[in-house]
Amino acid sequence: MKIDLRSDTVTLPDAGMLDAMMTAKVGDDVFGEDETVHALEHKLAAMFNMEAGLFCPSGTMTNQIAIKCFTNPMDEVICDQRSHVYRYEIGGIAYHSMASVRLVDGPRGILTPELIEPEINEENIHYPNSSLVVLENTVNKGGGACYTLSQIEPIHTLCNIKGLKLHLDGARIFNALMATGDDAADYGTYFDGISVCLSKGLGAPVGSVLLGSKATIKKAIKIRKAFGGGMRQAGFLAAAGIYALDHNVGKLATDHRHARALGEALSRASYVSSVLPVQTNIVVFEVADGLTPLSVVQHLAEKGLLCSVTGPKTVRMVTHLNISEEMIDMAIENIIHLHVSAHK
Ligand SMILES: *Cc1c(COP(=O)(O)O)cnc(C)c1O
Repeated sequence: MKIDLRSDTVTLPDAGMLDAMMTAKVGDDVFGEDETVHALEHKLAAMFNMEAGLFCPSGTMTNQIAIKCFTNPMDEVICDQRSHVYRYEIGGIAYHSMASVRLVDGPRGILTPELIEPEINEENIHYPNSSLVVLENTVNKGGGACYTLSQIEPIHTLCNIKGLKLHLDGARIFNALMATGDDAADYGTYFDGISVCLSKGLGAPVGSVLLGSKATIKKAIKIRKAFGGGMRQAGFLAAAGIYALDHNVGKLATDHRHARALGEALSRASYVSSVLPVQTNIVVFEVADGLTPLSVVQHLAEKGLLCSVTGPKTVRMVTHLNISEEMIDMAIENIIHLHVSAHK
């Protein structure tokens, strides 16, 4: 049996989700006529206390649209150096928005007003305009670390005072809500834009939603069209998203429990030097001296356990909807009994 812990994007829709997709009422969404897409957009906007939503093909697209909405060419975007928007969106900030990026280094990717404020440029003929801060919750490359709303509030206040917009890459926002107990509805107060992925822990096959004010989403619709992201009978996909919100949010607690169990097992393994404290569904560990992460990943793969190399010393495992209790037990057995030699 293969136990695929490479990413929470590998999930397959279950029978209930497929049924919801097959029976969705659809129309041409570029004409604004797909009621299931509208239902998904309204449902998420209401949950997060935002005015409007926009269904997009990917999280990358929602982030890039938001950044384009909130900046002008020659502006500067402030984000953590681990940010998905910086590292894993192919330099899209430069390509789409013609903006520069100012990187901050927060512990596990978690920023504070003290870290952000010195990076905001004063008005000066030589400087780009600092116009946007992007936070990520949970922080993917930070090993699933999450912000509480009480940490976000003072960042919002700083952005307000300095006249910067604040965007949230909430690809895994529901994991953060599950871990912190914060209320989604309070998020709308703090952010100008929020990206929510349906195809990560929530288990939908495709799709992300950008949330914002009516004016932001009006602008975003045109940018989405220019990006080639206007979809026709997208309600078949939106139906999977609605189903995921109705059925899968609560199940994230199981993913978090599974991740903690994996983290605990890994911390006892001889080939692991340290494990980042597990906060959500991502487990990141450093391999012991003398070993490469690739050799550890290959040894685990021989036991049917798939995970990924994420840095010169680090390996990542991600739990998700398609990982059962039985698979976790088997994974733990293998993790504990595996022996990795330096020469292989
Ligand atoms: C996965 C992810 C995204 C979006 O990825 P897509 O594959 O484009 O949907 C954005 N931000 C973070 C933090 C992610 O993990």
